[in-house]
Amino acid sequence: MASTDIVRLENVWVSYNGTPALEDVNLVVVEHDFLGVIGPNGGGKSTLLKVILGLVKPQRGSVTVLGSLPERSRNRIGYVPQHSNYDHDFPVSVMEVVLMGRYGKRGILKPYDGSDREAAEKALARVGMLSHAHTQIGQLSGGQQQRTFIARALVSDPALLLLDEPTASVDSAMQTDFYELLEELKREMAIVMVSHDIGAVSVFVDKIACLNVQLYYHGSSEITPQILEATYKCPVQLIAHGDIPHRVLRKH
Ligand code: ADP
Repeated sequence: MASTDIVRLENVWVSYNGTPALEDVNLVVVEHDFLGVIGPNGGGKSTLLKVILGLVKPQRGSVTVLGSLPERSRNRIGYVPQHSNYDHDFPVSVMEVVLMGRYGKRGILKPYDGSDREAAEKALARVGMLSHAHTQIGQLSGGQQQRTFIARALVSDPALLLLDEPTASVDSAMQTDFYELLEELKREMAIVMVSHDIGAVSVFVDKIACLNVQLYYHGSSEITPQILEATYKCPVQLIAHGDIPHRVLRKH
């Protein structure tokens, strides 16, 4: 393993009840990578993230994260789950949400101490949300909630940040701010972001992989119409809603 490997998947196979969700997937993520993984719903994107987190065990193949088994490295991974998975009516403050990110370091039964609060404040400042620390999470806009969840992922000082459909409930003006934040964060950690929306990821990421059970990966942000069509099993115009971001497609 090269010293800069953050994630390494070799010949990974995952099936649920005999149906493959990942087929012979190979992927290497190195320091400072900002990788976008795009593909249709049901293509295995969440499964890929769960494999990296050690929550799903492949039937075949090997997975290393930061040189160890994924579950041993989990406290060095910041994970931002899909927005819709969170109950926004739950009466909890921004500060409390971010403190939850310390469980991995502290253990769930130990009370928070000053160092946890300091780390939470630092993470909130990092995403520009410190002034909202005592606001209830449900009172925030979609973009502010998203920043709060990123702060929760950052509070454990991760070497790898995983984002699952992060732009789902954020309007396009906020998305630019969001990508600018990720541009800053990638100086300190590798980022892997999955999305079914090619337009959402293509302009800012450095590398793109296409996943539809099989992973098509070329180590650059340029992918061909042929790869997109193979991934989505439909013409490129439909995938990109007629507006294909220039950086994604190689000149041809
Ligand atoms: P994506 O995130 O790209 O939408 P998923 O990884 O969620 O894809 O799902 C890939 C496939 O695996 C889908 O067909 C889905 O129905 C199936 N799947 C995912 N999780 C489970 C599970 N826990 N049990 C059974 N099937 C699952």
